[in-house]
Amino acid sequence: MKVFKGNMIYTKEPKRFEILEQGYVTVDDTGRIVSVSKEAPEGIETAHVVDFENHMVIPGFTDLHLHPNQYPNDGLGYNYELMEWIENYATPVNGLYKNEQITRRIFSALIEDLWRYGILHSVQFGALDLRTNDILFEMMIDSGLYCYLGKNHTDYKKDRHEVETTQESMRCAQYLIDKWEGKSPRVHYIMTPSFAPGCTEEMMKWCGEMSRKYKLPLQSHLDENKKEVGMVLDRFTDCKNYAQVYQKYHMFGNDIKTVMAHCVYTTEDEIQALRYAGVYVAHCPHSNCNLGSGIMPLRRYLDMGIKVGLGSDISAGHTLNMMDNMRSAMEMSKVLYVEEGEMPLSTSEAFYLATKGGGSFFGEVGSFERGYLFNALVVEDDAVASIGGHTLEERIERFIYNGDDRQIKQRFVEGKELKKPVFEI
Ligand code: FE
Repeated sequence: MKVFKGNMIYTKEPKRFEILEQGYVTVDDTGRIVSVSKEAPEGIETAHVVDFENHMVIPGFTDLHLHPNQYPNDGLGYNYELMEWIENYATPVNGLYKNEQITRRIFSALIEDLWRYGILHSVQFGALDLRTNDILFEMMIDSGLYCYLGKNHTDYKKDRHEVETTQESMRCAQYLIDKWEGKSPRVHYIMTPSFAPGCTEEMMKWCGEMSRKYKLPLQSHLDENKKEVGMVLDRFTDCKNYAQVYQKYHMFGNDIKTVMAHCVYTTEDEIQALRYAGVYVAHCPHSNCNLGSGIMPLRRYLDMGIKVGLGSDISAGHTLNMMDNMRSAMEMSKVLYVEEGEMPLSTSEAFYLATKGGGSFFGEVGSFERGYLFNALVVEDDAVASIGGHTLEERIERFIYNGDDRQIKQRFVEGKELKKPVFEI
């Protein structure tokens, strides 16, 4: 048994922070929290006590949507909209991964940054190529971080230019599932059809079947950009909306744990379908802003009880900094407040999205509650806040608005400190 002592800050519910000043979190040998208390727990005299003194202790972050192989494109090409950006940036970057050493160097930098920003859990949209995914699986397992990772399926394109065949795409995924699923308690396979415009009907049907057969979750994109939605409606004339395409091929929630990125242009029927099927929404405010895609109706989703987490959407989003992603979510919600009167996202709600909201995709992570894994970050105040005079709620607000990775002093996974991953390349 271990007892962690410090200023514990978390969100059981979106509406408010739970703050335990100099509180105690007791963790069993499996890394699960057995008690959270203001008073010292019984048996503390004989327990291993870790004292974080005046630092803030918060749950580790979850990035619910990122494209690891696009990391070299961070910050590039945002004068384009989505479809042109894919053509000019997202697709050409795949050429880099023909060289294994470059592949390992890029993923080493990415994983180090995930660790640096306290992203202990991530849902990663893998590359097309088998070997690239193979290397990333190996490195993610070595890192000690949690992730879902899947091979991107993009077997449909009108002109068939630079596109994988359906059979080859399926063969790669089957190989990766056989090789990696079940190899690690922290790294799992997720079925990853790119998006309806990029997949054949045969592929989408197969992805749904594979999810059921192997009890795997599934990720894709939904209603990101107006042109994309138009392409879907033009091609799938038997479906009255985009979500219906995924429903038609049985890859939309219910018995399959599903996350859909963006969900900017959802119709009323699609919103009901998201809720009914229990589909997670990965809110990607940076990306939606960078590519001029639009503003997601976040308040509507939260009011309806739809599950939402934050996605950096690297590299249509430009940073893994989750504090920056929270800020962007709040800023964009305030634009909707000004334009449409929707109640803006509060600081505690933004924090909830980055911790428990997205974390629940991984089970009991993202909060300090009994039964949750102690996957946590130890945060130091910036120089001015550390002088004193601020309440803990003000200190965490300040970190969310002004904070960066330098203030994250330690990361804990299952009650043990996770040191910076080092890869020999
Ligand atoms: Fe994406």
